[in-house]
Amino acid sequence: MERILGAIRNNAGLTQADVARRTELSRATVSNLVAELERRGLVRTRGGLRGSRRALEAVIGRTSNAVLGVDFGHRHVRVGVADLGGRVLGDEERALPQDLGVEESCAEASAMTARLLAKAGLQRSDLIQAGVGLPGPIDQGLGRVGWHAILHRWAGLEASSTLRELFGLPVVVDNDGNLGALGELRFGAGRGCQDLVYLNVGTGVGAGLIIGGRVHHGAAGTAGEVSHISIDPYGQLCRCGNRGCLDTVVGTDSFLEMLRGTYGDELTVSRVLELADLGDVRCRRAFADAGHALGVVIADLCNLLSPQRVVVGGMLAQAGEVILGPLRETVAQRAVPAAARAVEILSSTLGGRAEMIGAICLALDAVTASSWRPDAVAGAAGA
Ligand SMILES: [Zn+2]
Repeated sequence: MERILGAIRNNAGLTQADVARRTELSRATVSNLVAELERRGLVRTRGGLRGSRRALEAVIGRTSNAVLGVDFGHRHVRVGVADLGGRVLGDEERALPQDLGVEESCAEASAMTARLLAKAGLQRSDLIQAGVGLPGPIDQGLGRVGWHAILHRWAGLEASSTLRELFGLPVVVDNDGNLGALGELRFGAGRGCQDLVYLNVGTGVGAGLIIGGRVHHGAAGTAGEVSHISIDPYGQLCRCGNRGCLDTVVGTDSFLEMLRGTYGDELTVSRVLELADLGDVRCRRAFADAGHALGVVIADLCNLLSPQRVVVGGMLAQAGEVILGPLRETVAQRAVPAAARAVEILSSTLGGRAEMIGAICLALDAVTASSWRPDAVAGAAGA
């Protein structure tokens, strides 16, 4: 039943036949289980003429219930509020000073949440769950942020319990790359995929792996940490102590540093994008080099995992084909031919919202899972 409820929650407007296809269960089984879910008040049907053609809708708790998705980055926070059908009711991004403390960062996110709730006509008490993305490896057993976290002030923090206290809500936490992958899988360029690699090329390179339709965390929760794959043994020293890591080549700080000698210290990624668009050969070359460097790592990932799709997001991905063209070329040259032919390499369709939308998906999954506790089911059925 959990699979069926998850499918209905994550895909608005499915019919019973659609649910049968997605869950690979027989129509008769789906029909029986949907009837049981309706009896418990967890699912209702709307519109349409005949039973199996009517669209299904998940119902848990009060209809005004909502979830919160928060994406903390190196220098930003993005907050979104969504209803239990996964519709984003409002979202907002703000710049944060670098290395802001945990409490101050959460206070900013809470103030943004209050504004979004007010705009959506919701109360604070309507929020029942939060999902939070952080730019570091998260130990899945303890929910602890790893020491390699880009946000130094968060390293070693037991994130779920600390954030639960600060937000006054149940909180589930995951690495932001994993959440970007989940967001793109459910609502973006990864829809319909079972095996997906997501890369976010920003201050560092965040990545998330979807294997068999699920986020792959690995034994230590660090799966997808591609930012410290060394692509040049004699390259620049990295903050991790190695040389020539992917971060030191395509992370926005290194990317801009390379061009600042020519274009001045005030150069931004947006300006490089504009110049590349105008045909500036150096800026175009910088994107092409970044594409080749990413291609080296993605070719290895294709050999290891043979994904159906690679979705590239983050600031540098805004260069579109200027970066994706060289990236595809490198993958075609370096990956096993069959794996290279099988993979589609696309730009993110959710852009800077992918991680926040993934955080909302994580929160919705937690709500679905908790609805199977006997007390929650009884509460929902009475709503
Ligand atoms: Zn490194």
